[in-house]
Amino acid sequence: MTTDPDHVFIGIDLGGTTIKTALVNAAGEIVHELRVDTEQQDSDKLLAQLVSLAQGLNKQAEGHAAAIGIGVPGLVNIKTNRIEVMPNLPNLADVDVPAILARETGLPTVIDNDANAAAYAEHQAGAARGKRDVFFVTLGTGIGSGLIMNGQIYRGANGFAGEFGHMTIDPEGIECGCGNIGCLETIASGPSIVRRTRERLYRDRTSSLSLLALPRDRELTAEDIARAAQSGDEMSQLMMERTGMFLGIALAAVVNLLNIEMIVMGGGVMEAGDLILKPTTNEVRRRAFPPSFRDCQIVKAELGPSAGVIGAALLGRDYAR
Ligand SMILES: [Zn+2]
Repeated sequence: MTTDPDHVFIGIDLGGTTIKTALVNAAGEIVHELRVDTEQQDSDKLLAQLVSLAQGLNKQAEGHAAAIGIGVPGLVNIKTNRIEVMPNLPNLADVDVPAILARETGLPTVIDNDANAAAYAEHQAGAARGKRDVFFVTLGTGIGSGLIMNGQIYRGANGFAGEFGHMTIDPEGIECGCGNIGCLETIASGPSIVRRTRERLYRDRTSSLSLLALPRDRELTAEDIARAAQSGDEMSQLMMERTGMFLGIALAAVVNLLNIEMIVMGGGVMEAGDLILKPTTNEVRRRAFPPSFRDCQIVKAELGPSAGVIGAALLGRDYAR
């Protein structure tokens, strides 16, 4: 059925504050998109919002929509189709979200973790096109990752594989939202970079505070620090360098374990570009086996914040085949 060149696929990327939706063609190009604030009041309202978005996009597609894919920021059990853990959003664990969307739209619907969806998008239509074994990591509010092995998303026994952000990197570090101590996410996620930068600013008041313009009307973000690093602020550059070092320590383990072809790095923190990519790569080089490092390209993601919604739609495309 998906041989029709006019077919489009509905992608839904559920985020803690924003839901990104799009109609995506079979090549992974967005033909229409819509973003709305996430309904956070309760699970019934959130579910109703997802149904209404899917119905709206189906209508917009004028009969050409062939499937729906939804990416969620949580652990999705592929055996039961249930979201088992989804911090920061109303609990949808009791409902079969894809079954409900399928019933309300008449379209085959598939659900997956949002980082898996983004990884798949980079593999199908972004930086990792044509590669077989790829590790994707996204540095944002949390650290998400997805592993592509043999051209397929590697999901593990129940669908929970790829929780790279929760690898322990500092056994004596601070407590993570997941309950563990010293996860990579407590050091290298956006909010953690901000926290470490603030700590440093207080400790060392002679640091180049002047260049990192602290916004007055809102909270400082990791993107602010990334941009300050780009415009030459030495302390921001040091923060990016230290963050890259910790990322590199964790990624060296991935390189040694899997001998992958490519690591793709995405998310808002990557606005720092080479200022984070280089120290990360240097640390992987220092720690991984030289032949494994030699075989592994480390690159910036290409699809930006649209990767999740594109990947969700492409998972829908594959599901409908
Ligand atoms: Zn954790």
